[in-house]
Amino acid sequence: MRAMINADPQELAKFSELAHRWWDPESEFRPLHQINPLRLQWIDSLVPLANKQLLDVGCGGGILSEAMAQRGAAQVLGIDLAVKPLKVAQLHALESGVHNVDYREIAVEALAAERPASFDVVTCMEMLEHVPAPESVVRACTTLVKPGGWVFFSTLNRNAKAFLLAIVGAEYVLKLLPRGTHEYEKFIRPSELARWCRDAGLELQRTRGLEYNPFTRHYALSNDTSVNYLFALRKPG
Ligand code: SAH
Repeated sequence: MRAMINADPQELAKFSELAHRWWDPESEFRPLHQINPLRLQWIDSLVPLANKQLLDVGCGGGILSEAMAQRGAAQVLGIDLAVKPLKVAQLHALESGVHNVDYREIAVEALAAERPASFDVVTCMEMLEHVPAPESVVRACTTLVKPGGWVFFSTLNRNAKAFLLAIVGAEYVLKLLPRGTHEYEKFIRPSELARWCRDAGLELQRTRGLEYNPFTRHYALSNDTSVNYLFALRKPG
């Protein structure tokens, strides 16, 4: 049934190839390291993570999973379909002495069939724009969260400004990311993500934008969702 998996093998290979540099804060993963405290703080302010059951979908090398575990989560499960990033994540947790995080190679749709309504919080960050059928990921995340629980998504908007900043700027001018990291056609408008979430049965609570200042080289949460943005949603209790 491998052919039925909702994943693009080229995307997974891309992330596997870079996996050994995942925790190098000066590598291609610098942006993830930089935005991590911002998103972690935002999530934790909406739903305190202490003692919660958490799922991180498309966790990669575990930058967010491990940080959420260190925030005092009861347990964090990170899942991805790229094998090398998962190995890196596992090794890093070991090195950090973080015991409340686990990693698994499994499709989110398969986990949804196995463990429906099991998690207080599901995060799925910077992943939807790499997947053939993102709406299927949204549905699976909804199945996995408990009634009353929270789901968080972040992705890239699709418009001329996002093309200029997220692809031309980040990949070609500033070289923050390797060329080919993102494909414009796969970017997702907030209205599209909102519709998939609504159709899945999630209620949108908050939206935030993420802005990058190339002069100070810093990110900040903002109200400008035109490039990178985050959704906080709840499954009705
Ligand atoms: N969520 C992490 C990593 C983002 S990079 C963070 O924000 O820090 C994107 C990740 O999505 C990569 O680890 C890649 O392997 C993963 N990914 C891409 N397609 C996927 C799929 N179909 N299923 C699960 N993970 C996927």
